[in-house]
Amino acid sequence: MSRVLVVGAGVVGLTCAVRLAEAGHEVDVVARDLPLETTSAVAAALWYPYRALPLDRVTAWSRTSYTALEALADDEATGVRMLPGTELHRAPAPDPWWREAVPALTRETTTDLPGTPYVDGWSFVAPVVEMPVHLRWLVARVEQLGGTLTRMALPALPDHAEVVVDASGLGARRLAGDPTLQPVRGQVVHVEQVGLERWWLDASGPVYVVPRSRDVVVGGTDDEGEWDRRPDPAVAERILDRAVEMVPELARARVLRHRVGLRPARPAVRVEAETRGDGLVVHCYGHGGAGVTLSWGTADEVVRLVGAA
Ligand SMILES: Cc1cc2nc3c(=O)[nH]c(=O)nc-3n(C[C@H](O)[C@H](O)[C@H](O)COP(=O)(O)OP(=O)(O)OC[C@H]3O[C@@H](n4cnc5c(N)ncnc54)[C@H](O)[C@@H]3O)c2cc1C
Repeated sequence: MSRVLVVGAGVVGLTCAVRLAEAGHEVDVVARDLPLETTSAVAAALWYPYRALPLDRVTAWSRTSYTALEALADDEATGVRMLPGTELHRAPAPDPWWREAVPALTRETTTDLPGTPYVDGWSFVAPVVEMPVHLRWLVARVEQLGGTLTRMALPALPDHAEVVVDASGLGARRLAGDPTLQPVRGQVVHVEQVGLERWWLDASGPVYVVPRSRDVVVGGTDDEGEWDRRPDPAVAERILDRAVEMVPELARARVLRHRVGLRPARPAVRVEAETRGDGLVVHCYGHGGAGVTLSWGTADEVVRLVGAA
């Protein structure tokens, strides 16, 4: 068993830390931003494979995560719930490419759809993750397994550690010298709960409505290459207008807060081992719009790569 330094305390770094510790490794996590300050804390966070490639690996990782999150949903403290919901389409659409990742998918008939402008859609039960709760639970799990979490901004990946897991999200632009990693800015509005118990998503959007225990996350945007973390009031208004078209009950919901996060997008998610001198670096970043959806799947793969070294 190795001593592993995980760089990054978003959902990707923490799930890697949990799985590595469960496999018997000694794990320390270091991060510039603590979990509730990360992009992961902004995620909606619906299980849904979005803006992540390649299709085959993403489908397999998503399926693994679905199963892991479904098991966690038995314990309220994890922040995971299994909720029904519907993905809507404005034109007839084929089955989704990630069809194999969900146990069941029901095609809606036109009469079950909310009406104009939607003509097609499918429903399925998906994990919905309340990120502030889940991230706290992940930290507690790491610590329960003997791991540590320390705030530390690194200028480069450490070269003294036996094994380093690079889960630095967008930070890998610098730490791994990877210019293919780009931000995809996402803005969301949190509104008060108005009794919603199912999620909605308009695939042409991104427009999504994700209910949580005390509020509802309404999104969103996906601005390629945009670094600005300030919420834009005009964009927030547009987000709400489009969401109300899909879920009219939201018209009476009070706005609670605005959030912006930068998705770490890359032409392909990078889960790959690299030897450096006497040590090993396992990169695990570039999860785009699906970090939560892929998290447990990529964490399992990181454990395999560390174990195989
Ligand atoms: C608005 C929005 C909605 C989203 N909705 C969903 C959703 O519904 N479902 C879903 O699956 N995904 C969703 N996502 C995507 C998801 O949030 C990301 O894919 C995920 O958070 C990426 O996680 P990460 O751990 O790789 O990165 P991050 O959460 O960004 O964490 C990176 C970590 O690395 C650390 N780090 C970086 N550089 C350094 C350094 N130099 N030294 C030390 N530490 C460093 C950071 O401080 C941080 O701790 C959404 C994203 C946004 C913005």
